[in-house]
Amino acid sequence: MTVKTVIKQMRDLRYNKTPGQVVIQYTDHCNALCPQCGMRKTSRFQRHTLSRTQVRHTLRAAAERGAYVVSFTGGEPLLFLDELTDHIRYAGKMGLEYIRTGTNGFFFAGKNQGRLTARVERVADALAATPLRNLWVSLDSSDPGTHEKMRGFPGLVEGIAKNLHHFHNRGIYPAANMGINRNTGGEATRNLVPSAFSNQSEYLEAFYHAYHQAFSRFFDLVISLGFTMVNLCYPMSITEDEHNQGLEAVYAATAQEDIVRFSRKEKAVLFKALLEVIPAYREQIRLFSPRSSLYALFRHYADRADVSYPCRGGLDYFFIDAKDGHAYPCGYRGTESLGPLWDLKTETFDDIKACRLCDWECFRDPSHLLGPVLDLWHNPLKLMRTIKEERYASSLWLEDLRYYKACGFFNGRKGPRSIKKISKAA
Ligand code: SF4
Ligand code: SF4
Repeated sequence: MTVKTVIKQMRDLRYNKTPGQVVIQYTDHCNALCPQCGMRKTSRFQRHTLSRTQVRHTLRAAAERGAYVVSFTGGEPLLFLDELTDHIRYAGKMGLEYIRTGTNGFFFAGKNQGRLTARVERVADALAATPLRNLWVSLDSSDPGTHEKMRGFPGLVEGIAKNLHHFHNRGIYPAANMGINRNTGGEATRNLVPSAFSNQSEYLEAFYHAYHQAFSRFFDLVISLGFTMVNLCYPMSITEDEHNQGLEAVYAATAQEDIVRFSRKEKAVLFKALLEVIPAYREQIRLFSPRSSLYALFRHYADRADVSYPCRGGLDYFFIDAKDGHAYPCGYRGTESLGPLWDLKTETFDDIKACRLCDWECFRDPSHLLGPVLDLWHNPLKLMRTIKEERYASSLWLEDLRYYKACGFFNGRKGPRSIKKISKAA
């Protein structure tokens, strides 16, 4: 981090702002079959990709608003590799420091090893020549067969195992990214149904063990494939209850399907299982998911306690929709179009309330991690009260910060630091 960045961040904090983030849904075209996602290639709707002008105007506006982070998401953004690398370069020129994109990894799948390697090398070469900081590759199950069936890409996992090093050789260290769903543990989680148990507590206990094991197996799998970084996306669905509270997806990666729908009680158990699995893996792989945020989600679903910090969606973070190029407070507040980012006036923020309506980790996790820093600056008494009343939550937050620092803040252009250094903070 440069001195200029530190000064900029101090200035932002003074004005009650956290480092800004813009998620640009560059396209909603996709070549995968994921049952949990509205953008799978068999879904019928009018597809869109943002124009070069729309992307450039948005990036310039993001930089002018003081954003640090830009993520190009999809659909499958790497279907447009040349355009994407052009946009990444432009984002770098605009001074955006943390540039990220992701892929379903389609180019890792295929039977002809020679052709496959050439394809992977082409993608790795193209991305390595840009200022991209982080690349994520989705993997939705600890069972390779289940993942490949969900995506519709046979041989994908083996392709990753054999070819991931082409990225490492070029100085790109991709992160494996799992969207939690009922296939997380393959059959072991897919076949769990309450009707097979005599009461709810028995079901929830089995549910806890199945997901605890599934998360462990998932981390073991991605380590064995050669990943040095991993992240988990919390289930993306909008329940009827949430819909009644005003949520309406603009980001079609949200879905109504049972595969990503969990009850409140199930979510409490899910977040607890993940919270408890993570410590065993933090020394083995750079593991992004912050335990303080998971604990806050666990409390929210277990006893409706609000120990999380409100989301910065619509304040410092924005989602840009591929359909109209407009900014939204996030991918979940589809009724609140803010128009093009470059036309957005600061006054708009007066109407935007603190929000905790969903679990979208892209916005919730950084909001939670930066909340205490804002309080330290603007409301130190509140912070002291929180530390006193929520000792465990506060200790997890400190532990996360130490760990993030030891991991070099997850710089995907560098290999992992020494395990010793990370293990001290884990
Ligand atoms: S989850 Fe990603 S890869 Fe799968 S259909 Fe949706 S956009 Fe495509
Ligand atoms: S919590 Fe954040 S991401 Fe979720 S609906 Fe509210 S603003 Fe959007």
